[in-house]
Amino acid sequence: MSRYIATRAIRGANALVSEAEAMLEQALGERGPETPVAFPNTAYYLPVIFGMMGKEIGQLGELPGILAHARSLLHPTPSEEHWTPYLGETLDSGMATLIAAEVIEAIRYVYGLQPESMPGFKLAGGTAFTSPDSDGGDGGPDGHLNGAIDDIQLRSWGIQLVDGRMPGFAAIVGCARSNEAAVQIVRQLQQRNILCFLSGNVNGRSIIDQLAEEGVELGYDTYTVPFGRDTISAIYALGFATRSALTFGGLKGGQAREILTYNKDRVFAFVLALGEVDDLKYSAAAGAINFGFPVIADTVIPQILPTGVTTYEHVVSMPWNEIEGADDSEKAKRLVQKCIEVRGVKIRMADVPVPVPYGSAFEGEVVRKADMRAEFGGRGSRCFEHLKMAKLDDVTDGKIEVVGPDLSTVEDQGSMDMGIVVEVAGRKMEQDFEPVLERQIHYFVNGASGIQHIGQRDITWIRISKKAADVGFSLEDFGKILHARFHSDFGAIVDKVQVTIFTDPALVEGRLAEARRAYDFRNRRLADLTDDAVDEFYSCTLCQSFAPNHVCIVSPERLGLCGAYNWLDCKASFSINPTGPNQPIRLGRKLDAVSGYWEGTKDYARIGSHGVVEEVAMYSIMQNPMTACGCFECIVMVIPEANGVMVVSREDTSMTPAGMTFSTLAGMAGGGIQTPGVMGVGKYYLISPKFISADGGFKRVVWMSSVLKEAMARELEVVAERAGDAELIERIADERSVTSVDELLPWLEAHAHPALAMDPIF
Ligand code: SF4
Ligand code: ZN
Repeated sequence: MSRYIATRAIRGANALVSEAEAMLEQALGERGPETPVAFPNTAYYLPVIFGMMGKEIGQLGELPGILAHARSLLHPTPSEEHWTPYLGETLDSGMATLIAAEVIEAIRYVYGLQPESMPGFKLAGGTAFTSPDSDGGDGGPDGHLNGAIDDIQLRSWGIQLVDGRMPGFAAIVGCARSNEAAVQIVRQLQQRNILCFLSGNVNGRSIIDQLAEEGVELGYDTYTVPFGRDTISAIYALGFATRSALTFGGLKGGQAREILTYNKDRVFAFVLALGEVDDLKYSAAAGAINFGFPVIADTVIPQILPTGVTTYEHVVSMPWNEIEGADDSEKAKRLVQKCIEVRGVKIRMADVPVPVPYGSAFEGEVVRKADMRAEFGGRGSRCFEHLKMAKLDDVTDGKIEVVGPDLSTVEDQGSMDMGIVVEVAGRKMEQDFEPVLERQIHYFVNGASGIQHIGQRDITWIRISKKAADVGFSLEDFGKILHARFHSDFGAIVDKVQVTIFTDPALVEGRLAEARRAYDFRNRRLADLTDDAVDEFYSCTLCQSFAPNHVCIVSPERLGLCGAYNWLDCKASFSINPTGPNQPIRLGRKLDAVSGYWEGTKDYARIGSHGVVEEVAMYSIMQNPMTACGCFECIVMVIPEANGVMVVSREDTSMTPAGMTFSTLAGMAGGGIQTPGVMGVGKYYLISPKFISADGGFKRVVWMSSVLKEAMARELEVVAERAGDAELIERIADERSVTSVDELLPWLEAHAHPALAMDPIF
């Protein structure tokens, strides 16, 4: 242990705790002890404090006790003569720093000083529902940085964190050597799908300023989250880490040791300190080391070798001047490489030979009309994609052909017809896998920076930005992307891939007709695919890397709760990886057709959950409901007074009739524990004929987030028809009309909701 680091970390911690105490005293005087304190949209209070100490802080008046604890963790700085280097004291100081930093940010939220304002700055934002012509969705107020990450975002990243698409995060603190270096560091991390949490400054200048100056889009969708321009805001990274353990690991507030170990073992993260490291940065870094996150600095600082708290080194110095490389951009690449070595995780990266940066971090990029070179689909032209299985002999692997005029013939910001036809062949390929693979085209194409892909099938809509076109992106590159990605991601079932891009309008017409026949055929096949028509369901244990006892049982009529895996996906995944997370469950004898019990599912539930769950009913929320990890799209919960259930979308932040917001409810639904009356589900399960069919089915839904009503309007119409009540959806309340049980009952009566006349739900 370095005395130098210990001294500076201890000094930094002492200073920050004192600062927090002074701020708190002032805030208590000015605002009073009952003033509410909270980070936005989270069920985990002030998350580091909740995780480490189990304290559910809701008011200013509760904070003095917290700071008293932080103070008790402080130590005197080591004296010159008598000093036995001791790691524990440094780690304690780190923890005190984190607690004090979280208190400071909480007080800043009280005063409206968080998220930090930054005039002229705009967060890149947007959800899946954002249209490219809108100005970017809910990226937060203009002129503000991000501040704390909310639970909604944490959960929506959940499945990517779990399945390895998103290996983890880098907490970048400070200011890079040059703007060029800043951009390259972030690009390198984005290409590896590593989240970049940005904070801190050196002499007033932050990497956030550097990236903003270079026009790098910052926001959730591009995996770059600007917390704030001071070091203290780096606390949000550790709040995120703490909540990962609580949300996905099923841990409880106060299980400090378990939360720290969970992070060390399962969360791939590190701190990258850019530029001069001051006392506060040393003490914050000591805080991160508690979580098992190593610190890499681009300046000369003492190194700390492994002691077991982190997997490899604790602190690594890689002075910028000594990094090899012709320019800052090359040096940046080496620095990122080093970070990944030190944290020690294998990163899967498909080599995609296109002239633009490529990686999942670019999936969410929006190409606005003004930045657009050309578009395919949308209002001005037709665009479709069709993936079909072919015989091995009929496919030439790697053949990419553009049939018709190319990009250069389209006027600027013009639009053009396009059909992407992908032919795949492989000994283990099945026709049932066609839609599974075809759906990947969306993600694969979107991974290219400067390309935006929306929709699927014959409502595909693709935009190429001017930037991408300027560096030479051509139509052929769509083929190159698809060829590379299908081989790298589906190599086990796909041996050959050939892509044809049709732009000749007459040919597009003919191929589109053929594609539509295929879509039709698949729709019919899907409609026939019922739970009764198969003799196997599939397990999904992908989330066990985060939620160790949770399994999803996926049937044709009930998809996984994350919404990302349906029965066909699981079947394909089993073919790709026979020992992977999706295993067939032979159903065997049917024990109860109404509730949905089979011998096979019964046995599997016990084994898959390691004995935590005895039985799972496929079709009931009341008895033995399926458990949940943390990545559910919606929560279904019984409202006893209304004799029905409510359905809350994870995108809905408003108050529900249960008196809780989604964030709070999520705490009850997750963690792999069976809770009768509460269930996390994928949104497409809502429209399944098997949706809580044992408890009365969809007619039980008395309240539903409006975002679901809107996003699934067409599907819900079909459900209403099936239920024999064309007005059924209008009888369901939502947050626009009802936010409490007291309001709900008269509303349901006024709208003659069928649940009121149904048998008691329990
Ligand atoms: Fe996780 Fe279930 Fe989705 Fe599998 S199906 S990834 S276990 S939520
Ligand atoms: Zn999950």
